[in-house]
Amino acid sequence: MISFEEALRLLDEHVKPGATVEAPLLESLGLTLARPIAARADSPRFDASAVDGYAVSRSDFSNGLPVVLSIAGTIHAGAASVKSLKPGSKHRPRCTHRIFTGAPVPKGADAIVMQENVAVADNKVTFTTVPTSGAYIRKRGAEFQRGEHLFEPGTILTPAVAQSLAACGFARVYIHARPSVSIIITGDELRPPGTKLHSGEIWDSNATALEAALHALGITNVHTQHVSDNARSTTRAIRSALERSDVIIATGGVSVGERDYVKEAFAANGVREIFWRVRMRPGMPLYFGVKLENGRTKYIFGLPGNPVSVMVTFQLFARRAVRCLMGHAAEEAHEKGVLAAPLKKSVARMEFVRAYRERTSGPLSTVVPLAARESNMTTGMARADALIVFPEEQEFLAEGSEVEIIPIQWGPY
Ligand code: AMP
Ligand code: MG
Repeated sequence: MISFEEALRLLDEHVKPGATVEAPLLESLGLTLARPIAARADSPRFDASAVDGYAVSRSDFSNGLPVVLSIAGTIHAGAASVKSLKPGSKHRPRCTHRIFTGAPVPKGADAIVMQENVAVADNKVTFTTVPTSGAYIRKRGAEFQRGEHLFEPGTILTPAVAQSLAACGFARVYIHARPSVSIIITGDELRPPGTKLHSGEIWDSNATALEAALHALGITNVHTQHVSDNARSTTRAIRSALERSDVIIATGGVSVGERDYVKEAFAANGVREIFWRVRMRPGMPLYFGVKLENGRTKYIFGLPGNPVSVMVTFQLFARRAVRCLMGHAAEEAHEKGVLAAPLKKSVARMEFVRAYRERTSGPLSTVVPLAARESNMTTGMARADALIVFPEEQEFLAEGSEVEIIPIQWGPY
């Protein structure tokens, strides 16, 4: 058996970001950029008005106020050709262009005056203040210039990053592809939820749990199989899963029970065991292996069947691996909290206690351990928003003590 930290280290050592593919922005949300992004154009692309108002030449303001200018034209956003604004002279009346937000600033104009600050009558505009140079003009290239480096590889495609890329003309980007996943549910006692149970049977909750958790990560290429507890069907199911998917997650049958066939079925399919059994609770019988298949590394998890073990080991290991494949950093920020009730344990394993946080006026939140602590009790997990880390070597955590907590997160970031 290995420690939790050693298991994480081995996982991180083996899992590397997945293949680089080009994909539309919307399909890339929650993934990370695989290549740097350089600006395709200046932003703004041209000098544009920041307000609805009047484009003026400040040289027309040199003879004192008020200044009265006649309206020579109108420039809307999207205007293709824009007449330049000529300063007034002995032979030419002084004039202005009506201009709207986002419209190109005419040549010769060096300021925009907001429409709220002028008086308009008979096609003439009266100005009572002298505008400052460049007022309300968004200068070409003020934000960034063509060729300028904008985003690093590893940048997460949030809606705001997607907007910024779209604003820069990108419809598609290079990202680390989402993995495809096969789920294998083992257990002769299991029936689908919504069906009638015979004696000794229970409803399968792990398929729903894992499919939901993968969907929350943006992964929809998910294939689920149910297999009964015998060596042949388990081996066959794992073989087809290895052909089909990048990640294989099996639940149940990975311990030392008489009908636990998952480990031997992994071995029969040439999966290389990286670790099996971790000094943690829940989730002790956790298995992780790899297989090179058709030039691609497949990542294989055997999660213990207890529903809470599935969720906790998914959170701590499978989700970490999947995020890493999508180019995310392995580590997420842990927090500290103040324990609301004492905790005791007798086994020398790291325990992850389901808990929820209560905001307090102090710098740390209060963490309340949930009563349903056994690994078959799904309600504790359902109500939890964090896992308290109960260190391996400790047997007691006092009420009011400062504890490390891992926030439960379902999304990719
Ligand atoms: P196993 O790891 O196969 O020994 O299963 C451990 C416990 O989890 C047993 O009580 C199983 O009945 C239960 N279990 C296994 N798989 C599931 C599942 N998909 N849904 C609900 N309970 C399960
Ligand atoms: Mg079983």
